[in-house]
Amino acid sequence: MAALNPVYTALPTTIFEHMSGLARASGAINLGQGFPDAPPPFALTAAVARAMAERSQQYPPMAGVPELRDAVSAFYARTQGLELTRDHVIVTSGATEAVAAAILAVVAAGDEVLLFQPAYDAYAPLVRRAGGVPVFVNLRPPHWQLERTAIEAAITPRTRALVFNDPLNPTGTVASATELALLAQIAQAHDLIAICDEVWEQVRFDGQPHRSLLAEPGMAGRTIKIGSAGKIFGATGWKVGWMVAAPELAAVTAKAHQFLTFTTPPMLQYAVAEALADDGLVQGLRDDWAATRAILNQGLARAGLAVLPGLATWFTCIDLAASGIVIDDATFADRLVREAGVASIPLSALWEGPDAPRHILRLCHCKPAAMLNDAVERITRWRSEL
Ligand code: GLN
Repeated sequence: MAALNPVYTALPTTIFEHMSGLARASGAINLGQGFPDAPPPFALTAAVARAMAERSQQYPPMAGVPELRDAVSAFYARTQGLELTRDHVIVTSGATEAVAAAILAVVAAGDEVLLFQPAYDAYAPLVRRAGGVPVFVNLRPPHWQLERTAIEAAITPRTRALVFNDPLNPTGTVASATELALLAQIAQAHDLIAICDEVWEQVRFDGQPHRSLLAEPGMAGRTIKIGSAGKIFGATGWKVGWMVAAPELAAVTAKAHQFLTFTTPPMLQYAVAEALADDGLVQGLRDDWAATRAILNQGLARAGLAVLPGLATWFTCIDLAASGIVIDDATFADRLVREAGVASIPLSALWEGPDAPRHILRLCHCKPAAMLNDAVERITRWRSEL
């Protein structure tokens, strides 16, 4: 076969698709890839049907329909105190596309990009595809905190950008005010662009509002903030996301976006614009997920599994070693789906290099109570036979 791009020939299929594929094939309970079992709120389905019937279904404006760009600005003004206009917002086909567009817009050949591990597995290949070099900063359990010395040790004169995921998937931890200030200070001292994957900003269970790195003093002109309607509304298949940045930055990210997907289906954009205006809808979903999280965490604790601390996301991590399980996470996840019928995500799949923690497993909680209880029972029964 003719030579293909080594970035992709060397790449495995993403762990999320791999685990969902195994779950589909075997009928396992899928607590791997993050998605709710329930359909999104009916208000969204009704709004998209109305938009299908009443609005244009041809190419929308490349940067997104004005209604959604305005709704995103207003949503962040209300929920995070950000001062934005429609010119700050570029709508994308999901947050992964936004991450790709942001990286393509920022990274040129030879640029180094800081990535914090564990990391969503799209970041490093996207940096490489852009001609850049990912430089990993390893975070450590159980708090996964940013440390000045580790970050500064990774910076060279070629460092151009950092990718920062907060709240952090897979751990569900949230950066403190001190960590945000530290990162802002480092980004400015070294003239870095911050690409902030904040898709979990509304899926937070400590009652505190999300704080964006974009809001830190001096960061407005060097931050690209990424959000996701799929996460906010539990509609992952819709693939509606956005980038928010100062207009000069947004204009360049828009040029990367125009040759990825160009536009995002207009009926989905109109529906998301309507839904973003409804604070009760967002709060209701958060309450639902707080309940599913409690059910899974309590079930795991009752089963003698050590739940790691976390405040956000659809995920709970368990510490296998602290639970008395000596199998590594990848083997455990592989056997668990095949032998016990429960799909999960091993944390080491979201880590490159030799120092990966190999004792942590991620489980998705946004599922019906009966399914969560069944999964915990299956894990407990299987474990007792190990
Ligand atoms: N963010 C999702 C998760 O962590 C995965 C996204 C995807 O599979 N594209 O489960």
